[in-house]
Amino acid sequence: MKLEFEIVPDGCWYSNLRSALKKSDWDKIRFDAYKRAEGKCMICGAPAKRLEAHERWSYDERLGIQKLEDVIAVCHDCHCVIHIGRTQLMGDEDRAISHFMKVNNCSYADYRKALGEANMVHRRRNLVPEWATDLSWLARMKIKV
Ligand SMILES: [Zn+2]
Repeated sequence: MKLEFEIVPDGCWYSNLRSALKKSDWDKIRFDAYKRAEGKCMICGAPAKRLEAHERWSYDERLGIQKLEDVIAVCHDCHCVIHIGRTQLMGDEDRAISHFMKVNNCSYADYRKALGEANMVHRRRNLVPEWATDLSWLARMKIKV
């Protein structure tokens, strides 16, 4: 699926990269993402006046390593789907559901199934007692932490 849920494990540090970086470094990262996006959401491709920066992490459950893979620019609707837990709390799930179905060209049943799987992965990752963080991606952006 083009657009997927990305639920950050509870114990993860740097789950919010921007608060861990100097503002100027975070700006450099997000403006680079906006430039690469050329005015379009990097997931659904919709033209967007305002894009939002989204951190992509991978999780190695065996080694307990969360690794920053990329920072991409996405539209607000895609961002709401990605962080579905927060969106549900804000009472905005209906809008996220229709966006998910449109972008992935799928049914509501597919949405429920994908959400169930994402929640299962989330619970499994929460069993990792401690996550180490790999921020080597930042070196490519010439940013030190
Ligand atoms: Zn989008």
